[in-house]
Amino acid sequence: MSNTEHRRQGVSRRGALAAGGGIAASLTVGRIPVAEATPDSASADVVVIGAGISGLTAARRLIQSGVSSVLVLEANDRVGGRTLDLEVGNGVVTEGGGEWVGPGQDRVLGLIDELGLSTFNTYVDGKSVYLRNGNRQTFTGMTPPLGPDALADFVQLQTRLEQMASTVPAEAPWTAPDALTWDGMTLGGWLDSNSLSAEAEWLFTLGFTIIFAEDPHETSFLRALHAIGSSGGIGHMFNTTGGSQESRIAGGPQLISLRMAEQLGKRVVLGSPVTEIGQQNEGVIVKSARAEVRCRRVIVAMAPADAERIRFTPELPVRRAALQRKWRNGTESKLFAVYEKPFWREEGFSGQAFTDLPITPYVADNSPPDGSVGILVTFMGTAGSGDGLKWSDALLDDPAARRTAFLDDLTKLFGPKAAQPVRYLEKSWLNERWIEGCVSTRAPGTLTRYTDAARAPVGRIHWAGTETGILYEGYMEGAVSAGERAAEEVRELL
Ligand SMILES: Cc1cc2nc3c(=O)[nH]c(=O)nc-3n(C[C@H](O)[C@H](O)[C@H](O)COP(=O)(O)OP(=O)(O)OC[C@H]3O[C@@H](n4cnc5c(N)ncnc54)[C@H](O)[C@@H]3O)c2cc1C
Repeated sequence: MSNTEHRRQGVSRRGALAAGGGIAASLTVGRIPVAEATPDSASADVVVIGAGISGLTAARRLIQSGVSSVLVLEANDRVGGRTLDLEVGNGVVTEGGGEWVGPGQDRVLGLIDELGLSTFNTYVDGKSVYLRNGNRQTFTGMTPPLGPDALADFVQLQTRLEQMASTVPAEAPWTAPDALTWDGMTLGGWLDSNSLSAEAEWLFTLGFTIIFAEDPHETSFLRALHAIGSSGGIGHMFNTTGGSQESRIAGGPQLISLRMAEQLGKRVVLGSPVTEIGQQNEGVIVKSARAEVRCRRVIVAMAPADAERIRFTPELPVRRAALQRKWRNGTESKLFAVYEKPFWREEGFSGQAFTDLPITPYVADNSPPDGSVGILVTFMGTAGSGDGLKWSDALLDDPAARRTAFLDDLTKLFGPKAAQPVRYLEKSWLNERWIEGCVSTRAPGTLTRYTDAARAPVGRIHWAGTETGILYEGYMEGAVSAGERAAEEVRELL
Protein backbone atom coordinates (compact mmCIF):
# COMPACT_ATOMS: atom_id res chain seq x y z
CA MET A 1 0.00 0.00 0.00
CA SER A 2 1.38 3.38 -0.94
CA ASN A 3 1.82 6.30 1.43
CA THR A 4 -0.96 8.06 -0.41
CA GLU A 5 -3.30 5.21 0.26
CA HIS A 6 -2.31 5.20 3.92
CA ARG A 7 -3.05 8.90 4.13
CA ARG A 8 -6.36 8.48 2.35
CA GLN A 9 -7.21 5.88 4.94
CA GLY A 10 -6.19 8.42 7.54
CA VAL A 11 -8.91 10.78 6.39
CA SER A 12 -11.53 8.10 6.98
CA ARG A 13 -9.84 6.60 10.00
CA ARG A 14 -12.36 8.05 12.38
CA GLY A 15 -15.02 6.41 10.30
CA ALA A 16 -13.15 3.13 10.62
CA LEU A 17 -13.09 3.51 14.39
CA ALA A 18 -16.79 4.17 14.46
CA ALA A 19 -17.44 1.03 12.42
CA GLY A 20 -15.75 -1.31 14.89
CA GLY A 21 -17.37 -3.24 17.71
CA GLY A 22 -17.08 -2.88 21.47
CA ILE A 23 -18.76 -1.70 24.60
CA ALA A 24 -18.54 2.00 23.86
CA ALA A 25 -21.28 2.03 21.28
CA SER A 26 -22.96 4.80 23.22
CA LEU A 27 -20.05 7.18 23.05
CA THR A 28 -18.78 9.58 20.46
CA VAL A 29 -15.82 8.39 18.47
CA GLY A 30 -13.79 11.18 16.98
CA ARG A 31 -16.31 13.60 15.64
CA ILE A 32 -18.77 10.93 14.61
CA PRO A 33 -21.77 10.64 16.94
CA VAL A 34 -23.05 7.11 17.37
CA ALA A 35 -25.94 5.54 19.26
CA GLU A 36 -27.42 6.92 22.50
CA ALA A 37 -25.98 5.75 25.79
CA THR A 38 -27.51 2.79 27.57
CA PRO A 39 -27.05 2.46 31.34
CA ASP A 40 -24.62 -0.41 31.21
CA SER A 41 -22.72 0.76 28.15
CA ALA A 42 -20.42 2.89 30.25
CA SER A 43 -18.79 0.07 32.09
CA ALA A 44 -15.77 -2.00 31.25
CA ASP A 45 -13.36 -4.41 32.85
CA VAL A 46 -10.46 -2.13 32.04
CA VAL A 47 -10.25 1.53 31.07
CA VAL A 48 -7.03 2.60 29.38
CA ILE A 49 -6.37 6.34 29.46
CA GLY A 50 -4.30 7.65 26.56
CA ALA A 51 -4.27 6.40 22.96
CA GLY A 52 -0.57 6.73 22.29
CA ILE A 53 1.46 3.65 21.36
CA SER A 54 1.59 2.49 24.97
CA GLY A 55 -2.11 2.70 25.81
CA LEU A 56 -3.20 1.16 22.52
CA THR A 57 -0.68 -1.66 22.94
CA ALA A 58 -2.01 -2.34 26.43
CA ALA A 59 -5.62 -2.42 25.20
CA ARG A 60 -4.79 -4.64 22.26
CA ARG A 61 -2.77 -7.10 24.33
CA LEU A 62 -5.60 -7.31 26.89
CA ILE A 63 -8.08 -8.15 24.16
CA GLN A 64 -5.69 -10.69 22.65
CA SER A 65 -5.47 -12.36 26.06
CA GLY A 66 -9.24 -12.71 26.27
CA VAL A 67 -10.24 -9.56 28.18
CA SER A 68 -12.71 -8.15 25.68
CA SER A 69 -14.28 -5.41 27.80
CA VAL A 70 -11.71 -2.67 27.35
CA LEU A 71 -12.25 1.02 26.68
CA VAL A 72 -9.58 3.53 25.65
CA LEU A 73 -10.25 7.19 26.48
CA GLU A 74 -8.12 9.72 24.62
CA ALA A 75 -8.13 13.47 25.26
CA ASN A 76 -7.05 14.49 21.80
CA ASP A 77 -9.03 14.18 18.57
CA ARG A 78 -6.42 11.82 17.17
CA VAL A 79 -4.49 8.75 18.26
CA GLY A 80 -0.69 8.45 18.30
CA GLY A 81 0.27 10.89 21.07
CA ARG A 82 3.92 11.76 20.58
CA THR A 83 3.95 10.17 17.13
CA LEU A 84 2.43 12.49 14.57
CA ASP A 85 2.84 12.15 10.81
CA LEU A 86 2.82 15.47 9.00
CA GLU A 87 1.49 15.66 5.47
CA VAL A 88 3.99 17.49 3.25
CA GLY A 89 1.96 17.26 0.03
CA ASN A 90 0.92 14.60 -2.50
CA GLY A 91 0.24 12.10 0.24
CA VAL A 92 3.84 12.10 1.49
CA VAL A 93 4.31 12.23 5.24
CA THR A 94 7.23 13.04 7.47
CA GLU A 95 7.66 12.40 11.16
CA GLY A 96 6.67 15.32 13.40
CA GLY A 97 7.35 13.32 16.57
CA GLY A 98 8.83 9.88 17.24
CA GLU A 99 10.74 8.72 14.21
CA TRP A 100 13.57 6.19 14.31
CA VAL A 101 13.79 2.58 15.42
CA GLY A 102 16.84 0.37 15.58
CA PRO A 103 18.23 -3.07 16.38
CA GLY A 104 17.50 -4.32 19.89
CA GLN A 105 14.14 -2.54 19.95
CA ASP A 106 12.45 -5.89 19.59
CA ARG A 107 9.02 -5.03 20.99
CA VAL A 108 8.31 -2.14 18.66
CA LEU A 109 9.87 -3.93 15.67
CA GLY A 110 7.71 -6.98 16.46
CA LEU A 111 4.60 -4.81 16.71
CA ILE A 112 5.38 -3.07 13.41
CA ASP A 113 5.61 -6.48 11.78
CA GLU A 114 2.46 -7.75 13.49
CA LEU A 115 0.50 -4.75 12.20
CA GLY A 116 1.62 -5.38 8.62
CA LEU A 117 3.85 -2.29 8.57
CA SER A 118 7.44 -2.13 7.41
CA THR A 119 10.63 -0.18 8.00
CA PHE A 120 13.22 1.24 5.64
CA ASN A 121 16.83 2.29 6.23
CA THR A 122 17.50 5.88 7.20
CA TYR A 123 19.38 7.45 4.27
CA VAL A 124 23.06 7.82 5.16
CA ASP A 125 24.81 7.07 1.85
CA GLY A 126 27.55 9.47 0.84
CA LYS A 127 29.27 12.28 2.67
CA SER A 128 28.06 13.85 5.89
CA VAL A 129 29.03 17.37 6.93
CA TYR A 130 30.87 18.39 10.08
CA LEU A 131 31.04 22.14 10.62
CA ARG A 132 32.52 23.72 13.71
CA ASN A 133 34.13 27.13 14.29
CA GLY A 134 33.62 27.94 10.60
CA ASN A 135 35.57 24.88 9.45
CA ARG A 136 33.41 22.74 7.14
CA GLN A 137 34.58 19.15 6.61
CA THR A 138 32.95 16.11 5.09
CA PHE A 139 33.20 12.52 6.25
CA THR A 140 31.73 9.11 5.57
CA GLY A 141 30.68 6.53 8.14
CA MET A 142 29.65 7.21 11.71
CA THR A 143 32.52 9.13 13.28
CA PRO A 144 32.85 12.87 12.68
CA PRO A 145 36.41 14.01 11.84
CA LEU A 146 37.47 15.13 15.31
CA GLY A 147 41.05 16.22 15.86
CA PRO A 148 43.28 13.55 17.51
CA ASP A 149 43.03 15.08 21.01
CA ALA A 150 39.26 15.45 20.78
CA LEU A 151 38.89 11.89 19.48
CA ALA A 152 40.98 10.47 22.34
CA ASP A 153 38.92 12.52 24.78
CA PHE A 154 35.65 11.38 23.21
CA VAL A 155 36.77 7.74 23.63
CA GLN A 156 37.79 8.21 27.28
CA LEU A 157 34.50 9.93 28.10
CA GLN A 158 32.48 7.25 26.33
CA THR A 159 34.41 4.44 28.04
CA ARG A 160 33.95 5.95 31.49
CA LEU A 161 30.27 6.75 30.98
CA GLU A 162 29.56 3.24 29.76
CA GLN A 163 31.54 1.69 32.60
CA MET A 164 29.52 3.68 35.18
CA ALA A 165 26.30 2.91 33.30
CA SER A 166 27.04 -0.82 33.61
CA THR A 167 26.63 -0.51 37.40
CA VAL A 168 23.11 0.97 37.11
CA PRO A 169 20.37 -1.70 37.15
CA ALA A 170 17.82 -1.05 34.40
CA GLU A 171 14.85 -2.02 36.60
CA ALA A 172 15.94 -0.11 39.67
CA PRO A 173 18.53 2.58 38.87
CA TRP A 174 18.12 4.03 42.38
CA THR A 175 19.85 0.93 43.77
CA ALA A 176 23.16 1.58 41.92
CA PRO A 177 26.06 1.78 44.39
CA ASP A 178 26.66 5.48 43.59
CA ALA A 179 23.01 6.32 42.92
CA LEU A 180 22.69 9.13 45.48
CA THR A 181 25.84 10.91 44.37
CA TRP A 182 25.03 10.60 40.70
CA ASP A 183 21.40 11.65 41.11
CA GLY A 184 22.62 14.78 42.88
CA MET A 185 24.68 15.77 39.84
CA THR A 186 23.84 16.66 36.25
CA LEU A 187 25.15 15.12 33.07
CA GLY A 188 26.30 18.58 31.97
CA GLY A 189 28.17 19.11 35.24
CA TRP A 190 29.95 15.77 34.85
CA LEU A 191 30.94 16.59 31.27
CA ASP A 192 32.23 20.02 32.38
CA SER A 193 34.47 18.42 35.01
CA ASN A 194 35.68 15.44 33.04
CA SER A 195 36.12 16.58 29.44
CA LEU A 196 39.67 17.40 28.41
CA SER A 197 38.78 18.90 25.04
CA ALA A 198 36.12 21.51 24.26
CA GLU A 199 35.35 19.76 20.97
CA ALA A 200 34.57 16.36 22.54
CA GLU A 201 32.45 18.00 25.22
CA TRP A 202 30.57 19.96 22.59
CA LEU A 203 29.86 16.83 20.53
CA PHE A 204 28.59 14.91 23.59
CA THR A 205 26.46 17.88 24.56
CA LEU A 206 25.01 18.06 21.07
CA GLY A 207 24.12 14.35 21.02
CA PHE A 208 22.61 14.26 24.51
CA THR A 209 20.73 17.53 24.08
CA ILE A 210 18.93 16.11 21.07
CA ILE A 211 18.34 12.68 22.62
CA PHE A 212 16.98 14.02 25.93
CA ALA A 213 15.43 17.15 24.35
CA GLU A 214 16.91 18.95 27.34
CA ASP A 215 20.05 20.80 28.37
CA PRO A 216 22.41 18.20 29.95
CA HIS A 217 22.88 20.68 32.81
CA GLU A 218 19.28 19.96 33.79
CA THR A 219 19.39 16.18 33.40
CA SER A 220 20.18 13.93 36.35
CA PHE A 221 23.52 12.20 35.81
CA LEU A 222 21.99 8.99 37.21
CA ARG A 223 19.18 9.15 34.63
CA ALA A 224 21.73 9.72 31.87
CA LEU A 225 23.72 6.66 32.98
CA HIS A 226 20.49 4.67 33.25
CA ALA A 227 19.56 5.67 29.70
CA ILE A 228 23.01 4.73 28.41
CA GLY A 229 22.88 1.33 30.11
CA SER A 230 19.30 0.50 29.15
CA SER A 231 19.32 1.84 25.60
CA GLY A 232 22.22 -0.08 24.12
CA GLY A 233 25.16 2.19 25.04
CA ILE A 234 26.36 5.52 23.67
CA GLY A 235 27.28 4.22 20.21
CA HIS A 236 23.81 2.74 19.86
CA MET A 237 22.13 5.91 21.10
CA PHE A 238 24.09 8.19 18.77
CA ASN A 239 24.41 6.06 15.62
CA THR A 240 22.28 5.60 12.57
CA THR A 241 23.47 2.32 11.02
CA GLY A 242 23.48 -0.32 13.75
CA GLY A 243 22.02 2.16 16.22
CA SER A 244 18.75 3.65 17.39
CA GLN A 245 18.39 5.81 14.27
CA GLU A 246 18.88 2.93 11.80
CA SER A 247 15.35 2.71 10.38
CA ARG A 248 12.14 4.59 9.81
CA ILE A 249 8.61 3.33 9.42
CA ALA A 250 7.11 3.34 5.95
CA GLY A 251 4.06 5.62 5.93
CA GLY A 252 5.07 7.15 9.28
CA PRO A 253 5.14 5.90 12.90
CA GLN A 254 1.68 7.24 13.69
CA LEU A 255 0.45 4.32 11.58
CA ILE A 256 1.36 2.03 14.50
CA SER A 257 -1.34 3.69 16.58
CA LEU A 258 -3.77 4.15 13.71
CA ARG A 259 -3.61 0.46 12.87
CA MET A 260 -4.15 -0.58 16.50
CA ALA A 261 -7.03 1.88 16.83
CA GLU A 262 -8.64 0.52 13.69
CA GLN A 263 -8.52 -2.95 15.21
CA LEU A 264 -9.91 -1.74 18.53
CA GLY A 265 -12.81 -0.04 16.77
CA LYS A 266 -15.35 1.68 19.02
CA ARG A 267 -13.35 0.79 22.06
CA VAL A 268 -11.30 3.92 21.32
CA VAL A 269 -13.04 7.15 22.28
CA LEU A 270 -11.40 10.35 21.09
CA GLY A 271 -11.89 13.90 22.37
CA SER A 272 -12.48 12.53 25.84
CA PRO A 273 -10.01 13.96 28.37
CA VAL A 274 -10.14 12.15 31.67
CA THR A 275 -10.52 14.54 34.57
CA GLU A 276 -11.07 12.25 37.53
CA ILE A 277 -10.28 8.72 38.68
CA GLY A 278 -12.13 7.63 41.80
CA GLN A 279 -11.19 4.34 43.43
CA GLN A 280 -13.76 2.55 45.53
CA ASN A 281 -13.64 -0.84 47.22
CA GLU A 282 -15.45 -2.62 44.46
CA GLY A 283 -14.05 -0.77 41.45
CA VAL A 284 -13.11 2.52 39.86
CA ILE A 285 -15.10 5.37 38.33
CA VAL A 286 -13.35 7.21 35.52
CA LYS A 287 -14.81 10.58 34.57
CA SER A 288 -14.00 12.15 31.26
CA ALA A 289 -15.47 14.90 29.11
CA ARG A 290 -17.61 12.35 27.32
CA ALA A 291 -18.14 9.45 29.62
CA GLU A 292 -18.38 8.26 33.16
CA VAL A 293 -17.17 4.70 33.12
CA ARG A 294 -17.20 2.08 35.87
CA CYS A 295 -14.41 -0.42 35.63
CA ARG A 296 -12.37 -2.90 37.60
CA ARG A 297 -8.89 -1.66 36.70
CA VAL A 298 -7.41 1.43 35.04
CA ILE A 299 -4.23 1.80 33.02
CA VAL A 300 -2.96 5.39 32.86
CA ALA A 301 -0.78 5.43 29.72
CA MET A 302 0.90 8.80 29.51
CA ALA A 303 3.90 10.66 30.91
CA PRO A 304 3.66 11.31 34.69
CA ALA A 305 3.55 15.06 34.00
CA ASP A 306 0.41 14.53 31.90
CA ALA A 307 -1.26 12.45 34.63
CA GLU A 308 -0.90 15.51 36.89
CA ARG A 309 -3.99 17.00 35.18
CA ILE A 310 -6.19 14.18 36.50
CA ARG A 311 -7.81 14.38 39.95
CA PHE A 312 -7.38 11.19 41.94
CA THR A 313 -9.59 10.15 44.83
CA PRO A 314 -8.43 9.02 47.26
CA GLU A 315 -5.32 11.14 46.79
CA LEU A 316 -2.27 9.48 45.33
CA PRO A 317 0.47 8.35 47.70
CA VAL A 318 2.92 11.16 48.36
CA ARG A 319 5.80 9.73 46.32
CA ARG A 320 3.64 9.29 43.22
CA ALA A 321 2.00 12.71 43.62
CA ALA A 322 5.36 14.41 44.06
CA LEU A 323 6.83 12.53 41.12
CA GLN A 324 4.04 13.74 38.85
CA ARG A 325 4.49 17.31 40.02
CA LYS A 326 8.25 17.28 39.57
CA TRP A 327 8.37 15.21 36.39
CA ARG A 328 10.01 16.89 33.45
CA ASN A 329 9.81 15.90 29.83
CA GLY A 330 12.30 17.54 27.53
CA THR A 331 10.79 19.69 24.82
CA GLU A 332 11.96 20.42 21.34
CA SER A 333 10.65 21.33 17.91
CA LYS A 334 11.35 19.80 14.56
CA LEU A 335 11.92 22.07 11.56
CA PHE A 336 11.59 20.73 8.01
CA ALA A 337 12.60 22.05 4.60
CA VAL A 338 10.88 20.22 1.75
CA TYR A 339 12.44 20.18 -1.75
CA GLU A 340 11.27 18.86 -5.10
CA LYS A 341 14.05 16.25 -4.95
CA PRO A 342 16.71 15.25 -2.42
CA PHE A 343 19.27 17.22 -4.47
CA TRP A 344 22.06 16.57 -1.98
CA ARG A 345 21.95 12.85 -2.81
CA GLU A 346 22.82 13.54 -6.46
CA GLU A 347 25.79 15.56 -5.20
CA GLY A 348 27.06 12.69 -3.06
CA PHE A 349 25.77 13.91 0.32
CA SER A 350 23.84 11.93 2.91
CA GLY A 351 21.95 15.00 4.13
CA GLN A 352 23.35 14.38 7.61
CA ALA A 353 25.27 17.15 9.39
CA PHE A 354 26.68 17.97 12.85
CA THR A 355 27.26 21.69 13.28
CA ASP A 356 27.62 24.63 15.63
CA LEU A 357 25.49 26.84 13.33
CA PRO A 358 22.65 28.79 15.00
CA ILE A 359 19.78 26.39 14.35
CA THR A 360 21.07 23.15 12.88
CA PRO A 361 23.02 21.19 15.50
CA TYR A 362 21.98 18.02 13.74
CA VAL A 363 20.46 17.65 10.29
CA ALA A 364 19.09 14.44 8.80
CA ASP A 365 17.54 13.34 5.52
CA ASN A 366 13.84 12.80 6.25
CA SER A 367 12.78 12.11 2.67
CA PRO A 368 10.28 9.31 1.99
CA PRO A 369 11.72 5.89 1.06
CA ASP A 370 11.35 6.44 -2.69
CA GLY A 371 13.07 9.83 -2.56
CA SER A 372 10.14 11.31 -4.50
CA VAL A 373 10.62 14.55 -2.58
CA GLY A 374 13.55 15.75 -0.51
CA ILE A 375 13.15 16.60 3.17
CA LEU A 376 15.78 17.87 5.60
CA VAL A 377 14.98 18.04 9.31
CA THR A 378 16.65 19.67 12.29
CA PHE A 379 15.84 19.87 16.00
CA MET A 380 15.41 23.02 18.03
CA GLY A 381 15.35 22.87 21.81
CA THR A 382 14.36 25.55 24.25
CA ALA A 383 17.41 26.01 26.42
CA GLY A 384 21.15 25.89 26.34
CA SER A 385 23.99 26.70 28.66
CA GLY A 386 27.69 26.25 29.24
CA ASP A 387 29.40 24.88 26.16
CA GLY A 388 26.09 23.41 25.07
CA LEU A 389 23.68 24.37 22.37
CA LYS A 390 22.28 27.87 22.48
CA TRP A 391 19.20 28.91 20.59
CA SER A 392 18.95 32.67 20.64
CA ASP A 393 15.82 34.46 21.86
CA ALA A 394 15.18 35.64 18.31
CA LEU A 395 15.15 32.07 17.02
CA LEU A 396 12.98 30.83 19.84
CA ASP A 397 10.40 33.59 19.57
CA ASP A 398 10.30 34.65 15.92
CA PRO A 399 9.07 32.12 13.31
CA ALA A 400 10.31 34.20 10.39
CA ALA A 401 13.80 34.47 11.90
CA ARG A 402 13.81 30.72 12.46
CA ARG A 403 12.94 29.97 8.87
CA THR A 404 15.61 32.34 7.59
CA ALA A 405 18.25 30.97 9.96
CA PHE A 406 17.37 27.38 9.06
CA LEU A 407 17.69 28.00 5.31
CA ASP A 408 20.90 29.99 5.82
CA ASP A 409 22.39 27.11 7.76
CA LEU A 410 21.29 24.53 5.20
CA THR A 411 22.81 26.65 2.43
CA LYS A 412 26.15 26.71 4.26
CA LEU A 413 25.95 22.93 4.59
CA PHE A 414 24.55 21.81 1.23
CA GLY A 415 24.88 24.74 -1.17
CA PRO A 416 22.53 27.29 -2.79
CA LYS A 417 19.79 24.80 -3.76
CA ALA A 418 19.05 24.46 -0.06
CA ALA A 419 17.82 28.06 -0.01
CA GLN A 420 14.88 27.19 -2.30
CA PRO A 421 12.53 24.76 -0.52
CA VAL A 422 9.06 24.25 -1.89
CA ARG A 423 7.74 24.10 1.65
CA TYR A 424 8.82 24.86 5.19
CA LEU A 425 7.20 23.16 8.20
CA GLU A 426 7.58 23.22 11.95
CA LYS A 427 6.25 20.96 14.66
CA SER A 428 6.58 22.30 18.18
CA TRP A 429 5.90 20.02 21.13
CA LEU A 430 5.51 23.01 23.42
CA ASN A 431 1.98 23.83 22.40
CA GLU A 432 0.31 20.42 22.66
CA ARG A 433 -2.64 20.65 25.01
CA TRP A 434 -2.43 17.15 26.46
CA ILE A 435 1.25 16.29 26.09
CA GLU A 436 3.86 18.00 28.25
CA GLY A 437 6.92 17.21 26.21
CA CYS A 438 8.88 14.94 23.95
CA VAL A 439 10.99 12.40 25.71
CA SER A 440 11.76 11.58 29.28
CA THR A 441 14.53 13.21 31.17
CA ARG A 442 14.65 13.67 34.92
CA ALA A 443 15.68 16.49 37.15
CA PRO A 444 18.44 15.66 39.67
CA GLY A 445 17.18 13.94 42.79
CA THR A 446 13.93 12.58 41.42
CA LEU A 447 15.07 9.03 40.67
CA THR A 448 16.45 8.35 44.13
CA ARG A 449 13.68 10.21 45.92
CA TYR A 450 10.68 8.67 44.17
CA THR A 451 12.29 5.36 43.11
CA ASP A 452 9.61 3.01 41.76
CA ALA A 453 6.68 5.46 41.96
CA ALA A 454 6.53 5.82 38.17
CA ARG A 455 5.60 2.15 37.79
CA ALA A 456 4.22 0.86 41.10
CA PRO A 457 0.43 0.33 40.89
CA VAL A 458 -1.75 2.39 43.23
CA GLY A 459 -4.64 0.15 44.19
CA ARG A 460 -6.55 -0.50 40.98
CA ILE A 461 -4.54 2.04 38.98
CA HIS A 462 -1.68 0.76 36.81
CA TRP A 463 0.81 2.90 34.95
CA ALA A 464 2.00 2.58 31.36
CA GLY A 465 3.60 5.08 28.96
CA THR A 466 7.19 5.01 27.78
CA GLU A 467 8.31 6.67 31.03
CA THR A 468 7.57 3.37 32.78
CA GLY A 469 9.55 1.27 30.30
CA ILE A 470 12.49 -0.61 31.77
CA LEU A 471 14.54 -0.69 28.59
CA TYR A 472 14.53 2.21 26.11
CA GLU A 473 12.55 4.52 28.42
CA GLY A 474 11.53 7.52 26.34
CA TYR A 475 11.55 5.63 23.06
CA MET A 476 8.66 3.99 21.19
CA GLU A 477 10.22 0.69 22.29
CA GLY A 478 9.71 1.71 25.93
CA ALA A 479 6.09 2.65 25.16
CA VAL A 480 5.34 -0.78 23.69
CA SER A 481 7.04 -2.75 26.46
CA ALA A 482 5.33 -0.63 29.13
CA GLY A 483 1.93 -1.22 27.53
CA GLU A 484 2.57 -4.95 27.42
CA ARG A 485 3.76 -5.02 31.03
CA ALA A 486 0.74 -3.07 32.28
CA ALA A 487 -1.65 -5.33 30.34
CA GLU A 488 -0.06 -8.39 31.90
CA GLU A 489 -0.20 -6.84 35.38
CA VAL A 490 -3.92 -6.14 34.98
CA ARG A 491 -4.81 -9.45 33.32
CA GLU A 492 -3.39 -11.39 36.27
CA LEU A 493 -5.62 -9.43 38.67
CA LEU A 494 -8.95 -9.60 36.83
C1 LIG B 1 10.00 15.26 18.56
C2 LIG B 1 10.04 13.84 19.05
C3 LIG B 1 11.00 12.98 18.55
C4 LIG B 1 11.04 11.65 19.00
N1 LIG B 1 11.93 10.78 18.40
C5 LIG B 1 11.85 9.47 18.70
C6 LIG B 1 12.59 8.52 17.94
O1 LIG B 1 13.25 8.87 16.95
N2 LIG B 1 12.49 7.21 18.29
C7 LIG B 1 11.71 6.79 19.33
O2 LIG B 1 11.65 5.58 19.59
N3 LIG B 1 10.99 7.68 20.06
C8 LIG B 1 11.02 8.99 19.75
N4 LIG B 1 10.24 9.88 20.43
C9 LIG B 1 9.50 9.41 21.60
C10 LIG B 1 8.26 8.59 21.25
O3 LIG B 1 7.49 9.27 20.31
C11 LIG B 1 7.50 8.33 22.54
O4 LIG B 1 8.32 7.62 23.43
C12 LIG B 1 6.21 7.52 22.38
O5 LIG B 1 5.47 7.91 21.26
C13 LIG B 1 5.40 7.67 23.68
O6 LIG B 1 4.21 6.91 23.61
P1 LIG B 1 3.26 6.82 24.89
O7 LIG B 1 2.08 6.06 24.46
O8 LIG B 1 4.06 6.34 26.03
O9 LIG B 1 2.87 8.31 25.26
P2 LIG B 1 2.08 9.40 24.40
O10 LIG B 1 2.38 9.22 22.96
O11 LIG B 1 2.41 10.71 25.00
O12 LIG B 1 0.56 9.06 24.64
C14 LIG B 1 -0.16 9.55 25.75
C15 LIG B 1 -1.56 9.88 25.30
O13 LIG B 1 -2.33 10.25 26.44
C16 LIG B 1 -3.20 11.30 26.05
N5 LIG B 1 -3.64 11.99 27.26
C17 LIG B 1 -2.96 12.86 28.05
N6 LIG B 1 -3.74 13.27 29.07
C18 LIG B 1 -4.93 12.65 28.93
C19 LIG B 1 -6.15 12.67 29.68
N7 LIG B 1 -6.29 13.42 30.79
N8 LIG B 1 -7.19 11.91 29.26
C20 LIG B 1 -7.09 11.14 28.16
N9 LIG B 1 -5.94 11.09 27.40
C21 LIG B 1 -4.90 11.84 27.80
C22 LIG B 1 -2.35 12.15 25.14
O14 LIG B 1 -3.14 12.97 24.31
C23 LIG B 1 -1.61 11.07 24.36
O15 LIG B 1 -2.30 10.72 23.17
C24 LIG B 1 10.15 11.20 20.00
C25 LIG B 1 9.18 12.07 20.48
C26 LIG B 1 9.10 13.36 20.01
C27 LIG B 1 8.01 14.25 20.50
